[in-house]
Amino acid sequence: MGRSALRRVFCMSLGCSKNTADSEKIAGTLSDYGFEMVGDAASADIAIVNTCGFIRSAVEENIAAILGLAELKSEGRLKLVGVVGCLVARYGSELKRDMPEVDFWAGCDDIGSILESTGARGARFAASPRRERLPGDISHVRYLKISDGCDNKCSYCAIPSIKGPMCSRPAGDIVREAEALAGDGAAEICLVAQDLTAYGSDTGLHGGLTSLLDALETSLPRDIWLRLLYLQPSGVGRALLERVAGGTQVLPYLDIPIQHSSPEILKLMNRGASSRKLAGIFETARSIRPDFALRTTCMVGFPGETRSHFASLMRFLEKICFDRVGAFAFSPEEGTAAANMPRRVSERAKQARLAKLMSLQEEVSLSRQTLFVGRELDVMIDSVSAGGIAEGRSFREAYDVDGVVELAGVPEGIAPGGKIRAIMTGAYPHDMEARFRSFREVGVRT
Ligand code: SF4
Repeated sequence: MGRSALRRVFCMSLGCSKNTADSEKIAGTLSDYGFEMVGDAASADIAIVNTCGFIRSAVEENIAAILGLAELKSEGRLKLVGVVGCLVARYGSELKRDMPEVDFWAGCDDIGSILESTGARGARFAASPRRERLPGDISHVRYLKISDGCDNKCSYCAIPSIKGPMCSRPAGDIVREAEALAGDGAAEICLVAQDLTAYGSDTGLHGGLTSLLDALETSLPRDIWLRLLYLQPSGVGRALLERVAGGTQVLPYLDIPIQHSSPEILKLMNRGASSRKLAGIFETARSIRPDFALRTTCMVGFPGETRSHFASLMRFLEKICFDRVGAFAFSPEEGTAAANMPRRVSERAKQARLAKLMSLQEEVSLSRQTLFVGRELDVMIDSVSAGGIAEGRSFREAYDVDGVVELAGVPEGIAPGGKIRAIMTGAYPHDMEARFRSFREVGVRT
């Protein structure tokens, strides 16, 4: 059976939300060529894995997924297996040598070669490929990639070597894509990149992110939610904080990874933002808007981290009181400067520090959550169960990253993506409890 006869495609999207956006472009383009996107490998002719390759655990998970599909192929249940994306960019030559069972390899944005490899006829495709949700994915929360690559040189990170320098997408393309997502049922659009704050810096556009937000807020429906994910602290200033705080569709939610707060460790990490700068960002944010939802990410056990460095990080978290903290232990990544740094921290000490940090943050998060009990907030519905029970999120919770709002008393007929007003009735470290208050008036947000 020739490749052109193979029509059903399963796309497995691994890794981050930026990959989700790329996978949807692969799906949209293949559908435009008459392929049918299916929700599982067992009912497909072709399986494409859009991979992640930035840390060792992801590399291992991705290789296991590829081998799983190769096995389906060896059983005759799949005809073609293709691997695209970051893992190919990072380990392409080794993988091609070691995995002959894979039929084609490509960069995640190399749509032309994916079309060729799948036997698509008449290889012409749009400069801005159409996006199509993968089967089974939700429709009301979508990711909008505004740039790719990164110019920062954090010493532990392999992404610049995988993705190359930062490259901003044209604002017009981004706005058109956002409008298409809204037209496709998106109620919340999350802006993603390795570093949102750098948007436009490669094209000489000063304050690029702010002007992009202006364009998006002007062109999108007033009740759409815009959420910013991955703001690198070195690019965050008062102007941006005020812009986000004063947005109509932009949510007062800031995801700013600090990784650490000790001056020595920040220097070793080459983070480009001092401890004083970090404190200044969050204190300014809270002075502008005390209920700003602040999320950050921390790394413990970086080479050279002493107990006192770790203690200073714990004090910083206690002082700033983030609403949400994601944390992980340092993992030496091949090809990064940090992989060869001396004074490694033992795995045991790393895990002990991680546990201590997450236990502290449970208390801090609970104290932040408790401030919202009794407040009435807009809540977007993510899922509805029987008996007026539903799960949703307010501006304070990012989908699939933070906690949820457990709702009671929700009237029948509300669908995922719908927005209501709810009274917060209970607080837990990650989740809130709330009761339906009223349907939300379009265009009015608190
Ligand atoms: S900002 Fe740093 S951690 Fe993030 S992608 Fe760029 S180099 Fe990696």
